[in-house]
Amino acid sequence: MPLPRNRSRKYRVRVRKNVRGSRTVYKLTREFRASCAICKKNLAGIGTGSHTQKSVSRAFGGNLCHSCSERVIIDVVRVREKIKNLEDVDLSRRAYVQKLLKQ
Ligand SMILES: [Zn+2]
Repeated sequence: MPLPRNRSRKYRVRVRKNVRGSRTVYKLTREFRASCAICKKNLAGIGTGSHTQKSVSRAFGGNLCHSCSERVIIDVVRVREKIKNLEDVDLSRRAYVQKLLKQ
């Protein structure tokens, strides 16, 4: 079992089993795990390497997951077409909708 201070899931954990006999070692890497700003799910496609390997080239690519950015884009279109009011957009997504509406 890792030490209590090392049980945070902020950093990636690599487990090595059977180190010199039967000891299990939990090694923490200082690799940052990017997560969605709304639903806190881990972001896919964010890695290490060149610039294009580090981020997703989409609106809110390194910030929001695919399902949250889909909801934001749907809300932007509905607000632009006056099907929906900006006040009716969910409060967690409203700042992102306003940011896309300015463009
Ligand atoms: Zn999300």
